[in-house]
Amino acid sequence: MSSTSILVIGSSNTDMVIKADTFPGPGETILGGQFFMFPGGKGANQAVAASRLGGDVTFIAKIGNDIFGKQALQQFKKEGIRTDFIVADAEHPSGVALITVDANGENTIVVAQGANGALTAEDVNKASSEFSRVAILLMQLEIPIDTVTHAARLAKQAGKKVILNPAPAAVLPEALFKDLHIITPNRSETETLTGVVIKDAASIETAAKRLKAKGVEHVIITLGSEGAYLYNDQGGRHIDTPTVKAVDTTAAGDVFNGALAVALAEQMTLDEAVAFANRAAAISVTKMGAQASAPYRKELMSIL
Ligand code: ATP
Repeated sequence: MSSTSILVIGSSNTDMVIKADTFPGPGETILGGQFFMFPGGKGANQAVAASRLGGDVTFIAKIGNDIFGKQALQQFKKEGIRTDFIVADAEHPSGVALITVDANGENTIVVAQGANGALTAEDVNKASSEFSRVAILLMQLEIPIDTVTHAARLAKQAGKKVILNPAPAAVLPEALFKDLHIITPNRSETETLTGVVIKDAASIETAAKRLKAKGVEHVIITLGSEGAYLYNDQGGRHIDTPTVKAVDTTAAGDVFNGALAVALAEQMTLDEAVAFANRAAAISVTKMGAQASAPYRKELMSIL
């Protein structure tokens, strides 16, 4: 078994972005400015981040049998990601996100989940060989929750570590928590999961304790420029992120999670792994884009 093997199960989207002075109102058509098309989706972003940082990554996802799906597949191969278990769905188109960015940098986003919403437990079962091969399973919540819970169960039964990045925010089935090695919510996801309003160090600790009490071994709450808070049997501690000039925080959380998986697969301690993930995510916020901003391993040396 390769010690750095990571299985990512999640979404793949194509992000289509138009810059405009203002947002159109209902029934209105406006002329926008520049148009950009980027590969996205939390699953894909995290798979790319882990691969660039040295992880041996297999990605399970569902794409449409269309041009967006084909482009995404090509991109994953270029990134060195194992794509054997990516399914092209005849019935659903590839996931897309239509994003409008106004002059103030605010955005509106509409996502058509497409094939991501059709990734089933059966698709996951077809990759059962990967569950015995890899060290870590990394997932998010842009695919059906039943698929997430099924995969978590399989991985836990195989003795593997499951990391769940509970994004976008959702209430989770209670049984899922016991199959998780680590959960990595950001502030607002923590609030959704626990009902605790995150406003200071005490509320962060209260929320982390509530999550741990549900059966997760380690809770990591990401705190943007304030780094992350780690809570487990050894207690709670704050782990700082490097101070950087933030240019675009898109996908900072995705890079954090991809990096965390790599660090754990390499058997770093949890504190070291969080510090490693902070460094990788801090570099990503100094660059524009989602997957484009995910750093390569050698770049991490520049931010010790
Ligand atoms: P996003 O939605 O922007 O992808 P997120 O809300 O999921 O991010 P955050 O908690 O904002 O997650 O950030 C994730 C991690 O990224 C942080 O724990 C930290 O390591 C890093 N990070 C984010 N913003 C900054 C920043 N301004 N400076 C340094 N590191 C940052």
